[in-house]
Amino acid sequence: MLISYEEFARRADAIRTQIAAACATAGRHSHEVELLAVTKTHPALAADYAARYGLRGVGENRVQEAQDKRPQTAPTSGALRWELIGHLQSNKSKLAAQHFDRVQSVDSEKLLLHLDRAAAELGKTLPILLQINAGNDPAKFGADLADAPRLVAAALAKKNLRVDGLMTIAPLGTTPDETAAHAQRTFANLRQLRDDLAARLGLPFRELSMGMTGDLALAVAAGSTLVRVGTALYGAR
Ligand SMILES: *Cc1c(COP(=O)(O)O)cnc(C)c1O
Repeated sequence: MLISYEEFARRADAIRTQIAAACATAGRHSHEVELLAVTKTHPALAADYAARYGLRGVGENRVQEAQDKRPQTAPTSGALRWELIGHLQSNKSKLAAQHFDRVQSVDSEKLLLHLDRAAAELGKTLPILLQINAGNDPAKFGADLADAPRLVAAALAKKNLRVDGLMTIAPLGTTPDETAAHAQRTFANLRQLRDDLAARLGLPFRELSMGMTGDLALAVAAGSTLVRVGTALYGAR
């Protein structure tokens, strides 16, 4: 059962307060950090809550789920940006390019090729983020840090894709302290990579999509511009 809108709004207020506090500590402005509502496994109404609250985007893990859900949202949610944050198989590239406004989980040259082709067929420019395994987690998708410059160069060469920045997921540890240490290291790596690329290529790569329910304050401290939050907004899945 989805929580009520009032409960959602209380939770969203609390998260925004947490983001603002992390920004203040880091000397950042809180408007630099967007809260992306992760609606996966929840009904379409979860996306309507996000829109009603004034959030600009929602994140989904699966193409099929978003494809089913998006048409079920209210007309007033029409301006919501739908972002794919879960792993994408290249044979679903066409559907992904069709049903999402941005794909955050691009982690291979093969996927770049397929998405570029799909965007061309649809006559659109598809915004993307490159997913980097910045924590060197064997269990995670994402390009290796060492391969990132090559992936970025390949992405920039695609006429129908627009590279907005980078995305990562921090590995979990076996204790809260270890998890926090992994998160700090992972987010610092992604930030460093972005800064290096931006300086070398003279492009902003503005978006740093990092931070979830458990590690969003650490991510904001490290420079996140987009925190992807599901559990803290909607409850456990
Ligand atoms: C599910 C998911 C999230 C949200 O995680 P919570 O811990 O529920 O906030 C963020 N990013 C990705 C890639 C996810 O798959």
